[in-house]
Amino acid sequence: MVFLRIAYLRRGVATMVSAIAVFVLLILSVGLTESAGGSFSAERERMVVHDIEGRGITDEKTLAAMRNVRRHLFVPRAVRGASYSDHALPIGEGQTISQPFIVALMTEKLALDGSEKVLEIGTGSGYQAAVLAEIGAEVSSIEIKKKLAGSARKRLSELGYDKVKVRYGDGYYGWPEEAPFDAIIVTAAANHVPPLLLDQLKDGGRLIIPVGSTRYFQTLTLVTKRGEELQVEHISGAVFVPMVGKMLEGR
Ligand code: SAH
Repeated sequence: MVFLRIAYLRRGVATMVSAIAVFVLLILSVGLTESAGGSFSAERERMVVHDIEGRGITDEKTLAAMRNVRRHLFVPRAVRGASYSDHALPIGEGQTISQPFIVALMTEKLALDGSEKVLEIGTGSGYQAAVLAEIGAEVSSIEIKKKLAGSARKRLSELGYDKVKVRYGDGYYGWPEEAPFDAIIVTAAANHVPPLLLDQLKDGGRLIIPVGSTRYFQTLTLVTKRGEELQVEHISGAVFVPMVGKMLEGR
């Protein structure tokens, strides 16, 4: 009788131990999926706190957008693990997705309230466009590489940013059919400000663009249109991939 009880007890303990083991394994595997192909939410939060807020970005809308857009879904699988490090990453076609801090800085400088019409030159992966769309802006974006324009359009629409318009073409000429814009953001290195972009900017509108050498180093430049006057502010140094097409033919 006593022997039987102990046997039952042993079996009960064994069942309990295996149930706990299964539970622990389940939790572990959920954790692993989170960082392998899942939400990356902890990594994203660390990036916002450490690399974005930590480096001086204070605009609430920009911070919320950086928290919401899942950058790992904008980069190739092979580099997904580095999605939330503060670096530019390759996206194919010799192009890169910008460093998160620079995306946040450029977005903040546009001082958007969420009701604006914004033009982006250089769609790339579509990440910057998604950040602008999260803020509520009506985004039109131009990409000169056909393959990237196609994949960004598809990605943005699959992720629910289906109002973002993506056009394949040379952004040097802007998008006259959608103009005028409250804000314009150029995410490729320019050696001058394309005059047609200034024409397509509303009075009081802001344009942010890295200007300098298209091959080496640029100054992130904020231009505010005030009637016939242009107010120019130098924000910081930057290194972007070159703006190609008409930009490289000179004026
Ligand atoms: N904003 C992008 C990254 C930009 S990388 C993102 O969030 O992922 C710069 C992009 O500008 C590249 O994809 C490049 O092909 C594009 N580009 C370069 N010259 C261009 C031009 N003249 N018109 C439009 N896009 C251009």
